[in-house]
Amino acid sequence: MAMNVQPIPSVSERINEVRLLTAAIVNREILPNENMLWADHRGGHTTEGDREEARALRSSVRAKVREAGLWAPHLPEEYGGAGLDFLELAYMKEVLAYAVGASSLFGVMAPNSGNQLILVRYGTEEQKQKWLLPMIEGHMQSGFSMTEPDQPGSDPRSLRTTARRDGDEWVINGHKWFTSNGMEADFFIVMCRTDDGGGEADRNSRMTQIIVPSDTDGVKILRGIGVWGGTSDHCEIVYDNVRVPLENQLGETGSGHQAAQDRLGAGRIYHCMNSIGQMWRAFDLMVERAAERTVHGGVLESKQFVQGFIADSYMDISAARLMTINCAEKMRDGSYPRTDISAIKVFVPAAYERVVDRAIQVWGAAGITDDLPLAAMFQTARSLRIIDGPDEVHRILIAKNVSGHHRSGGTWDFGN
Ligand SMILES: Cc1cc2nc3c(=O)[nH]c(=O)nc-3n(C[C@H](O)[C@H](O)[C@H](O)COP(=O)(O)OP(=O)(O)OC[C@H]3O[C@@H](n4cnc5c(N)ncnc54)[C@H](O)[C@@H]3O)c2cc1C
Repeated sequence: MAMNVQPIPSVSERINEVRLLTAAIVNREILPNENMLWADHRGGHTTEGDREEARALRSSVRAKVREAGLWAPHLPEEYGGAGLDFLELAYMKEVLAYAVGASSLFGVMAPNSGNQLILVRYGTEEQKQKWLLPMIEGHMQSGFSMTEPDQPGSDPRSLRTTARRDGDEWVINGHKWFTSNGMEADFFIVMCRTDDGGGEADRNSRMTQIIVPSDTDGVKILRGIGVWGGTSDHCEIVYDNVRVPLENQLGETGSGHQAAQDRLGAGRIYHCMNSIGQMWRAFDLMVERAAERTVHGGVLESKQFVQGFIADSYMDISAARLMTINCAEKMRDGSYPRTDISAIKVFVPAAYERVVDRAIQVWGAAGITDDLPLAAMFQTARSLRIIDGPDEVHRILIAKNVSGHHRSGGTWDFGN
């Protein structure tokens, strides 16, 4: 089944061009090969022949992406990226997310992509040469090491990992977990507390992000944490008297909290567009199965329970998509729609979870097998309600912003 992407009359020519070019690669090169492309990543019985074929297929798709000028769409052209603007990239994301793993074939893979943006924005020329360019070329992997097992990730300013200056080195001590891509990473960007001098009001300015090569003495990767009943590369890591040169610091001392906000704020809009692409796929799978499967004397699509699933999912996707595009347009226009970002961060993963849940139900037992992408999507949707700030934190922020606005004399203007 191909993704149906047609030009959208209300957007720019470039957005339509990017979406159609992306859809052509997704539909022609990725969807028909979805199982084989990732054969070497699946557990179970894969032969060396399968693994070789998978690697060859991936490099042939990557070559086509480069030919289409869409490689690393999140990065500026000067760093070998496609140089898309905010809205172009947001609209591209939903198309990319339709197929399993398509993003990585276009050179966008978390957490590398977020780290690349931080390096573009905060890195020195030397750091860019050493860490950014090899990562963009696919010769290096990275991780972002912020969350700690003993501190609440929903209040990142409470983290305890310290970096102490000793001569021309930082000495880092701390305990992190859920550092994604930890097994593959050649370096980590580690969020550290670099100054305890300020008072309570100064909590944000104590944080600094520091680049730590993964083979530095004292970096101890304890395990890939088991999640959802399987192994993962979300790693638990101890940094034990890890010494790196002062020049590994990213940006000014104390800019770490701001850098994390820069990474997460815009990133949340892109993550939501990813979720929408995946919902779109789950929806198409549900509708397709409902049209084909006959139970109790009729196809599923003729049963009102299933019609309800289709209608509710249509509304979930449309609402999630319009909210997210509205938010992306505000970002493009130069504002930082903090309340809207929190609103989509809560609404979209919940809608995604509902849509996938219904699609699984329509597929019956097949819905929870690895033959379809639905089971993995369900786990992703559930996890997204925790990642990048749990639902509760964003709900609180929405309510505080609205009430604060009210206290300062204004009712909320939903038109802006
Ligand atoms: C799959 C996955 C990948 C991840 N990748 C990374 C990564 O690469 N790097 C990294 O640094 N981190 C990563 N994380 C960690 C993630 O960012 C944190 O899990 C998240 O910020 C929440 O922190 P926590 O788990 O410590 O939960 P806590 O902060 O302990 O919160 C637990 C629960 O408390 C509730 N809660 C929190 N605050 C409030 C409140 N004010 N009022 C009411 N209830 C509240 C919420 O329900 C929340 O879920 C990843 C997590 C997952 C699941």
